[in-house]
Order: sequence, then C-alpha cells, then structure tokens
Amino acid sequence: MNDTIEHKIIISPMGDHDTDLLDTIGKEVKRLFGFPVERKKLVNNVDFAFDTKREQYYSTPILEKLALKATPDTSRILAITDIDLFIPILTFVYGEAQLGGTSCIISTCRLTKDLSAETSKDIFYSRVIKEAIHELGHTFKLLHCKDPSCIMHYCRSIKDVDQKSDQLCRYCKILLDDEKKRLLKKISGS
Ligand SMILES: [Zn+2]
Ligand SMILES: [Zn+2]
Repeated sequence: MNDTIEHKIIISPMGDHDTDLLDTIGKEVKRLFGFPVERKKLVNNVDFAFDTKREQYYSTPILEKLALKATPDTSRILAITDIDLFIPILTFVYGEAQLGGTSCIISTCRLTKDLSAETSKDIFYSRVIKEAIHELGHTFKLLHCKDPSCIMHYCRSIKDVDQKSDQLCRYCKILLDDEKKRLLKKISGS
C-alpha cells in the first residue's frame, strides 16, 4: 500500500546548527519535494575527507559515506555542515550532490559572506535554503539551469546566490515533477 511506504528525506546536521535554521530548511524541503522530512545525525567525523594542503574538506567522499547510511525508507539525504568544502577542480563549493543519487551536502561556511547586521539572518537563511534545494534538486536528476533566477542556476559567487530566486523555473519544475512521479511509481510497485 502506497501510504504505508515512507519515502523520507533525511536532513543530517554535522556539528551544531541553529534548530530554527534546520526547521526552516525542513519546511522548505517538504514544501518543494513533498516527501516526509526527518532530522538525523548520520556522520559526525569527517577527518577522512580533510585535505591538509588545502585545509578544506573534500565533499565527494563525504557524500559516499552519507549514502552508505541510507536505510530502505530513505529517499535522499541532505547534510548540512559549516566546514569549508571543495572538489579538486574548484577552489571551494557551496555544496555537492550525487546526480540522481542518494546524498548531497551544503556548507554554510561561505554563505555568511558580506552580511550586514540588520538583514543578516534573513539573507543567510535564504542563501542556505537556496543551496539546500539546489543540491537536493541534483539528487532528483536536475541539471544546472541557464535561467539566472532559477534555483538550479549554478552560482560562482555569493552575488549569484543572492540574485537567484528560491523557486524552480517552469521547466525545472516539470522535470522535478516527472522524476518524483517516477520514484513514487517505483516505490508503490505499480
Ligand atoms: Zn549545482
Ligand atoms: Zn530552471
């Protein structure tokens, strides 16, 4: 039966994060992807991903480790950290995802850039949510979108992040709905 199958998105904080921020991310994720959201710490120690030369953490092995923690009722895992992440071809990343896979991660490390005292919380939250949805979007097979206001637009700088909206463009929304339908069909076995 369809309604007995839980197809969860796990929000997995690494280290300490503001509960209010985690709640807000959870709400937005549920609103956009429609799956039940649960909060669970899955991976705590990421020393294995530390690059001593760069003094940053390589996000790809962290994604692999996270994916191993998925239980059968887990659809996707979104990890949130404040450590500085990289992949070898880039100086840093705001996040990384397994395309069409289980896990993704975002880092708040570079999302605090240029915040002013009076608007800081709102802007910071908005940045974190945009990046969270963006990376989860990749796990639902969404690719980068040319539309600079679409949440799937690739951001090189914090200015790009601030300029894009917190919504998918019409085209990406259709692709996401198709992928969600496909996944739901698969788990209901029809
Ligand atoms: Zn991306
Ligand atoms: Zn788009």
